[in-house]
Amino acid sequence: MAFKIKAFEVSKKTYMYSKPFKISLGAHFESVNVEVKLILDDGIFGLGEASPSFLISSETPDMVEIGLKELCQALIGKDVRNYRKLFDETDVIFKAIPSAKAAVQYAIIDALTASLGITPFEFFGGSRDSIYTDKTVGIDEIENMVEEARSIYAEGFRTIKIKVGSVEKGVKSVEKIAEVTGNTGYIVDANQAFKAKEAVELSRKLYEKGINVVLLEQPVHRKDYDGLKFVRQNSPYPVAADEAVFEKYDAFKLIQNGCVDYINIKLMKSGISDALAIVEMAKSAGVGLMIGCMGESSLGITQSVDFAAGTGAFSYHDLDASLMLKEENPLKGFERDKDELKILGRDKRWK
Ligand SMILES: [Mg+2]
Repeated sequence: MAFKIKAFEVSKKTYMYSKPFKISLGAHFESVNVEVKLILDDGIFGLGEASPSFLISSETPDMVEIGLKELCQALIGKDVRNYRKLFDETDVIFKAIPSAKAAVQYAIIDALTASLGITPFEFFGGSRDSIYTDKTVGIDEIENMVEEARSIYAEGFRTIKIKVGSVEKGVKSVEKIAEVTGNTGYIVDANQAFKAKEAVELSRKLYEKGINVVLLEQPVHRKDYDGLKFVRQNSPYPVAADEAVFEKYDAFKLIQNGCVDYINIKLMKSGISDALAIVEMAKSAGVGLMIGCMGESSLGITQSVDFAAGTGAFSYHDLDASLMLKEENPLKGFERDKDELKILGRDKRWK
């Protein structure tokens, strides 16, 4: 009968970045993603994409591809209407490869909603028809960073994310960018580069210059909870955790210890199951949310657009990965107008 999982198809795809994308942890030249097609008994299918990031979550594309091919077998014959049970099972099966968990959990919801004639966006709550994304400036020579920010701003983006790796250059690059982009609003992301006191120094210097930093993202090592709390208590800007939060337990510990103002949820770190739990936890605790991405193509970004627009839970959206890749994946569930990402209906998807 329909709703039962008949088969999985798994395929690896390589996308080149338009230009090398550098963060404090290292540089990315290409993004190797793994697509999953989950096929039901009646031929209706759901899609998903894993975008593993070795720098962030120690997953390689081969691990994810082989893991998906082997481990999805355990789901054959199961009913996608029991998706909560399947989430619990996939939390265990894909524990070591969270990007694979995200792809499979989304594919389960995509197949279920395709059978019901709706989209995952509606399944997640249908809160907003569109969301607004930032765009990211990677670490580079300061004049190149300024040029890139200028063109991002001219394209219509109103929040710009800036990668930093040291206090002096970080302050200078953000300051120069603010001069040419109307002090529009900046998410400053250190990807764990600083000691707590350095992060406070960076944010105080930017604050003295009147720079409109809306979030300071993962300033310290992901395991340095005390450091994160210190930055939160001493920085004039709100502090967000990114690499420090994978599973819901991580979010719980950070919230319980008063370490964060915001949490950056990425489906590639948490899958849909833990992302849903973190959304409710953050709402309960009055902690803010942003949603981010790894190196997803349009297919993977669709997962996050559906989740973010559906739940309506996020103050900031950092869903620009597919914009940074050279080629576009034709599989896409949203359309873009400047910085606005609008949901596409079921009839316009996977064409
Ligand atoms: Mg980050």
